[in-house]
Amino acid sequence: ELKYDGFTSDEMEEIKRNVFLSTLDQVKGWARSSSMWPLSFGLACCAIEMMGTGGAHYDFDRFGVIFRASPRHADVMIVAGTVTKKMAPILKRLYDQMPEPKWVIAMGACAIAGGPYVKSYSVVKGVDQIVPVDVYIPGCPPNPAALIYGVNKLKEKIRYEAKTGKRVM
Ligand code: SF4
Repeated sequence: ELKYDGFTSDEMEEIKRNVFLSTLDQVKGWARSSSMWPLSFGLACCAIEMMGTGGAHYDFDRFGVIFRASPRHADVMIVAGTVTKKMAPILKRLYDQMPEPKWVIAMGACAIAGGPYVKSYSVVKGVDQIVPVDVYIPGCPPNPAALIYGVNKLKEKIRYEAKTGKRVM
């Protein structure tokens, strides 16, 4: 049996196959991170900044970020605003309707931990109590530059996960 650098030919085939698969995973990570489709829904004042980011001046589209009107078409949920306890089950249902793989951005103090309404009986103290969050963007509200920064961090994370095969939370 032929040997290459101490490996048998079967082992070499296995190595080649794994190198090909890991390259394919990296291509998938690059494609996913370059074309992110957030679900278009907003919950409060932070959503105005999110909409501003999608407008002509900040032009979210140039980063491959295109808002979708259906959770079935979306792979990113940007939780922009105050999550009330009444809204929580609806948010969870929308998240469940999104296909895998999917990611969540908590935009603003309200989505992160309840914000100015932290003592309110009606507000969830952080959307991560309902769905897993990948990126937190602080601010009240975060401006469009902060949202773009957060999205770029999510892109880095998606590519890292594709490269290493590890889910980072
Ligand atoms: Fe409004 Fe501030 Fe809450 Fe954003 S973090 S939804 S700006 S109160």
